[in-house]
Amino acid sequence: MTIYCRHCGSSEFRTSRFRFQALDLAQLLLLRLPVRCANCHERSFTFLPQFLKLRRAHHSRHNKSHDAA
Ligand SMILES: [Zn+2]
Repeated sequence: MTIYCRHCGSSEFRTSRFRFQALDLAQLLLLRLPVRCANCHERSFTFLPQFLKLRRAHHSRHNKSHDAA
């Protein structure tokens, strides 16, 4: 399951912080969580499995300086 940024088409995302906004709550009801494009930094939403995968990737990136930005 790959997500693409609707702004720049990038598939590189990072987890974004959840905010108690109407939009985020509506998305959460659909079991979608906020992520941020690593390329253009626009917010997007993805399903929980992808969100958790991104979180793990982010944490395991600790030693590598593999930062596209
Ligand atoms: Zn983007």
